[in-house]
Amino acid sequence: MPEHVVIIGSGPAGWSAAIYAARANLHPLVFEGAVNEPNRLSGTLPLGQLNLTTEVENYPGFPAGSLYEFITSAIPPERVELDLPMLESHKHAVTGPELMNLMRQQALNFGARIITDDIVDVDLSRRPFLLKALEGQSIESHTIIIATGARANYLGLESEERFKNRGVSACAVCDGALPRFRNKPLVVVGGGDSAVEEATYLSKYASQVNMLMRRDVFRASKIMEDRAKSNPKIKIHYFREVDEVLGSDKEGVTAVRVKNNREGGTHDLPASGLFLAIGHTPNTDFLRGQVQLNEKGYIKYTTLFRTYTSVEGVFAAGDVADDYYRQAVTSAGTGCMAALDAERYLAANGL
Ligand code: NDP
Repeated sequence: MPEHVVIIGSGPAGWSAAIYAARANLHPLVFEGAVNEPNRLSGTLPLGQLNLTTEVENYPGFPAGSLYEFITSAIPPERVELDLPMLESHKHAVTGPELMNLMRQQALNFGARIITDDIVDVDLSRRPFLLKALEGQSIESHTIIIATGARANYLGLESEERFKNRGVSACAVCDGALPRFRNKPLVVVGGGDSAVEEATYLSKYASQVNMLMRRDVFRASKIMEDRAKSNPKIKIHYFREVDEVLGSDKEGVTAVRVKNNREGGTHDLPASGLFLAIGHTPNTDFLRGQVQLNEKGYIKYTTLFRTYTSVEGVFAAGDVADDYYRQAVTSAGTGCMAALDAERYLAANGL
């Protein structure tokens, strides 16, 4: 018997889709990704990009600081139905991995089935669709929800890998407000809109933000370029690239060794953080061109306010189809939409 819904991906889009599909009695099967070294190195392990971050403070309902204090401040005592003594020990905001595990468990509790493997090939030219997993399993399904996300591009330096989560980040909005970055000099790499956005955001917390650009031309829009140039806390360094991330196990990142790619030579910039903003790559390789992508390689939605792709019965959710908002809450939103779209497609086709 073919599956009704196969969901590929296990970030907020995948789990939201799974929760909705499970509650609609569609018994979704979720491929959450394989746990292996290639996925670790490319940042595509199960639970997505949020699993690579620390505290999440902007997911509605999950505040900064102690959850216990937040709940008691937000809800009058007579309306609190939670086991507060249990929560009293939870002193920090929810972390990305915690949030993802909560969503995963919520999907499981509603009956979603989970396979810890990658989908490596699909045949979308036949019905039901055929999917192949890394470990050899073949699955047929009437609908597919693609929620494989995108991975941040990194420079590929060994020292960068060493300090991931200890000063090296590819998400200022996720990590920028952490105490380790406050009133400290920081480095942002890139000259696109994301780099300016990250630098501007970080300038609220940092003592100084050094933007390193490999050319002297911004890829960012003019308005964003002007924003960077007019911010007194942002210093722009042209023709500069990261040579090495410096630091220690105890302190994390302490400086960035910067090379001048025009004149040669290096110098060390003190910094407690290095933020990469050199683009993202959507995880669409396994589709092998069977779903239409936009000019940047993201899955193209074919209808406004729907999660339809170029293949009927195949829906997309989250960052794999979004190079613009890229937030946990927007991904969760499109995950929900994709499940509803799949449910309606199945009903309309008597499946
Ligand atoms: P972009 O591809 O636009 O920019 C990437 C930047 O990183 C470029 O400056 C590029 O340099 C640099 N870069 C790439 N690889 C390296 C490397 N190995 N070493 C050093 N520098 C490198 O990506 P963005 O993420 O900035 O933007 C993606 C899309 O999202 C864009 O369409 C953007 O407009 C949009 N966006 C819009 C926002 C807004 O409007 N507020 C905010 C954020 C994103 P080079 O130019 O030399 O190639």
